[in-house]
Amino acid sequence: MTDAGGVWQAAYIVAALSIVLSIKWLASPVTARRGVLSGEIGMLFAVVGTLLRHEVVSYQWIVISFAIGAAIGAPLAYLMPMTAVPQLTALSHAFGAFAAALVGTAEYYRYVSAGTPVTGFTMGALVIETVLGYLTFTASILAFGKLQELVPTRPLTYRGQNFVNLALLVFAVSLGIWMIVEPTPAWVFPTFTGLSLLFGVLLILPIGGGDMPTVIALLNSYAGAACAAMGFALGNRLLIIAGAVNASSGFILSVIMCKAMNRSFANVLFGAFGQVQAGAVAHTTQKPVHSATPEDAAEILASARKVIVVPGYGMAVAQAQHKLRELTDALTKRGVDVQFAIHPVAGRMPGHMNVLLAEADIPYDRLHEMEDINPDFAEADVALVIGANDVVNPAARHDTTSPIYGMPILDVDKAHTVMVIKRSMNPGFAGIDNELYYMDRTLMLFGDAKGFVGEIVKALPNTN
Ligand code: NAP
Repeated sequence: MTDAGGVWQAAYIVAALSIVLSIKWLASPVTARRGVLSGEIGMLFAVVGTLLRHEVVSYQWIVISFAIGAAIGAPLAYLMPMTAVPQLTALSHAFGAFAAALVGTAEYYRYVSAGTPVTGFTMGALVIETVLGYLTFTASILAFGKLQELVPTRPLTYRGQNFVNLALLVFAVSLGIWMIVEPTPAWVFPTFTGLSLLFGVLLILPIGGGDMPTVIALLNSYAGAACAAMGFALGNRLLIIAGAVNASSGFILSVIMCKAMNRSFANVLFGAFGQVQAGAVAHTTQKPVHSATPEDAAEILASARKVIVVPGYGMAVAQAQHKLRELTDALTKRGVDVQFAIHPVAGRMPGHMNVLLAEADIPYDRLHEMEDINPDFAEADVALVIGANDVVNPAARHDTTSPIYGMPILDVDKAHTVMVIKRSMNPGFAGIDNELYYMDRTLMLFGDAKGFVGEIVKALPNTN
């Protein structure tokens, strides 16, 4: 083994360790920054290690590709707002999966043109890599289009759709098995590729924009599996490790999201959830609500002992987290116990609220997961709901006709007083009315979350 061989192998070991540690550290907000850094270092070592391998004979194309990739990736990361992270994630999966599929295609034709016999194992890995790579590519592009509202977000369904999709998949898989078993005619691989690309599109068509974040977590898993398969095809252990970590974490995340929304995978993939949303918007009722001013809210908050804040998507849209930090500081200074309740699917992506609150330096030990904080609502003087809607809708507990029936929610309705900051009576993501707003002890605070929280801070009676 040459010296360069030793160097790239050492780089790969550091990369693999950093990637595994990254996932571990990302699991807690306290260590999440370290996790991101560790992941970045891991990728750096992986790329540099690969560039040092003797198979790399010229750097010219690599430098050009690097420049093109950086020119697209860097502005995307800077320009996309935090609320658009699901779209950005979909795009990055599309690129990653496409790269894996192209490598698989190149490997396939390299073997075919050289006429070298390929083991069933290697061909199996190539088949998995290309089918998952191509279908994830088109599915992720379409998911991006739906989330960015470039294509209609409504589910597109037709009679016999699941049968057509399944038949297509079975056809593609049969061609894949044929390629594994024996050398095939020239038309088979292009047909297999075309079917995989088409299947990706058909997979996403019936899924509403609403379920897209969950589907993106699943596509993340597919892209990871494609990379792991590529690792087997190329005999590259680092790709196997990184791909497997990606595949399993994406899968676990989609399971967690499905559980938090009380949905099954089958329901997400075939349920056409978005249709329910569109129909339900019309049903917001005209019942009276109690509304209040920032001054009223400030007075109630100032005299409370315990306040539980429930942030949601509206806080993210309004970027109200910094004002919320000011309010938390002011109330804490007055001796009020302020805690935060985090629903696993509040906002539009997993961890959305945690990231925003961390950005505003709200201490992590004040953030509580749903199961831990739910028993505390009964003894809270105020539940302050900021731009959250579906995740606090009591209908999820008892209304069997509700599209969110069965979804675990934050029990804010058990608090002595509930205050809800939102701009109007418009529904949230699920498109349904919220009975919480009509309760006797609920005060509606109509306005933009950032502006309204700022007004409350100003209206708080002086501490001295
Ligand atoms: P939500 O149900 O979508 O409600 C957000 C509320 O924020 C809206 O009712 C809206 O009312 C209000 N709002 C919007 N802009 C505002 C602003 N500038 N100031 C004040 N209020 C504003 O949000 P959620 O309670 O966080 O629930 C999340 C939903 O997303 C759930 O249905 C969940 O299943 C779904 N989801 C989440 C994820 C995830 O990973 N987090 C993934 C997939 C789906 P107004 O328009 O009246 O202001």
